[in-house]
Amino acid sequence: MTSRLTNWAGNVTFRAARLHSPTSLTELQDLVGGSPRIRALGSGHSFNRIADSTSDQVTVAALPPMCSVDPDRSTVTVSAGMRYGEFAAQLHESGYALRNLGSLPHISVGGAIATGTHGSGTTVGNLATAVRALQLVTADGVVSEISRDTHGDEFRGAVVGLGALGVVTRVTLDVVPTFQLSQWVYEDLPAAALATDLPAILASGYSVSLFTDWRSDSIQQVWRKVLVDPDEPPHAPDRWYGATLADRARHPIAGLSGDVCTEQLGVPGPWHLRLPHFRMEFTPSAGKELQSEYLLPREHAAAALAALGEIRDRIAPLVQVSEIRTVAADQLWLSPSYGRDTVAIHFTWVPDTAAVGSVLGDIEDRLGPFAPRPHWGKLFATDQQTLAAAYERYADFAALMARYDPTGKFGNELLDRWFPSGS
Ligand SMILES: Cc1cc2nc3c(=O)[nH]c(=O)nc-3n(C[C@H](O)[C@H](O)[C@H](O)COP(=O)(O)OP(=O)(O)OC[C@H]3O[C@@H](n4cnc5c(N)ncnc54)[C@H](O)[C@@H]3O)c2cc1C
Repeated sequence: MTSRLTNWAGNVTFRAARLHSPTSLTELQDLVGGSPRIRALGSGHSFNRIADSTSDQVTVAALPPMCSVDPDRSTVTVSAGMRYGEFAAQLHESGYALRNLGSLPHISVGGAIATGTHGSGTTVGNLATAVRALQLVTADGVVSEISRDTHGDEFRGAVVGLGALGVVTRVTLDVVPTFQLSQWVYEDLPAAALATDLPAILASGYSVSLFTDWRSDSIQQVWRKVLVDPDEPPHAPDRWYGATLADRARHPIAGLSGDVCTEQLGVPGPWHLRLPHFRMEFTPSAGKELQSEYLLPREHAAAALAALGEIRDRIAPLVQVSEIRTVAADQLWLSPSYGRDTVAIHFTWVPDTAAVGSVLGDIEDRLGPFAPRPHWGKLFATDQQTLAAAYERYADFAALMARYDPTGKFGNELLDRWFPSGS
């Protein structure tokens, strides 16, 4: 098939000459083994060229779907091309849950873990931290298995792999017993609460998100996803840190309908229908948008927000909404939360690539003192030296890439820039 596809946002037209969609593992092996340059495409939800290729692109979405729970090991093995929303209900009905999900269920498992995609929660890691094992087709067309139980440090290097080590076909994820959450939205959190109570607010639920449009120094919405206590009906006070409980369903972006969002107003529901903000059956977020995100040590949250507040007149005209979330520290080499409990500051921009590009440098300058790491799948201006300095295991990952893929088969424009050969 000829590929002149775009990503979900439409800001990237892929340059790959062909998009392949094999229906069997052997077909995929022949394809990878025989191609000079090939790159996996997930569901295309990244905002930069990370999934692009100068030659071939391949999707694993047409490989036979799989969702197999192993109760003895507390794992589920799924096809990497599946979207979370395609197997989460089945997992719940089997009595299990994933600990975390991103804001939308539409993204593929393979793509989400490759970029370190995260949700929110002070005690919950990003989606890649659930990975117990990966099955992947490596550059020579061979099927390899790499697992947390048997591959130690190398496994920690391979999970957030940016698609650079091979085409992932199956992913085994840790599961926990299924659980229920209630979701409450608070409006108009005063700026003063940020200065004094931000850590407590961020830790006030299983998963908490703050939303601001930067037009003032207050927070327009706080979304609290709280574990349901089976012995007590869900309850939330009308006033909380000076904010007011919303009396109807909200969308994070002002003026958009809350009907496309997961159920709020404290109605209890299973993890997969509360952790994402957006419902599978609707377009998530704004649809017409670009995104950027920077992840920094959590202790700098208030100072980093104050630093960005100094350039709010640059940010506000371009932003539809910003989201502030937390991620627990992990040990995955290229995870933006590697080694540090994290606060993530996200921007949903208007769809104007040039204007957004012009403000990213200012944002990165302001966040510079706090050692930010950009989200791998979103827009950023960070140069290669800064990336290298931001990741303690950067050189180890470059060496892993060279070992798995000595000819650079899985490279592309961005990877070649971020990890030039010999880095
Ligand atoms: C509306 C919207 C909301 C979002 N919300 C969040 C959020 O809440 N949290 C967050 O952290 N991010 C979020 N993102 C970003 C998104 O999660 C990441 O960009 C993610 O990588 C997208 O997954 P994908 O399947 O679309 O991957 P793609 O964009 O298709 O690919 C991303 C990378 O994964 C690699 N890849 C894909 N499949 C495979 C495979 N089978 N084997 C090997 N490599 C593979 C690709 O080569 C590429 O390097 C959001 C994006 C959008 C559009």
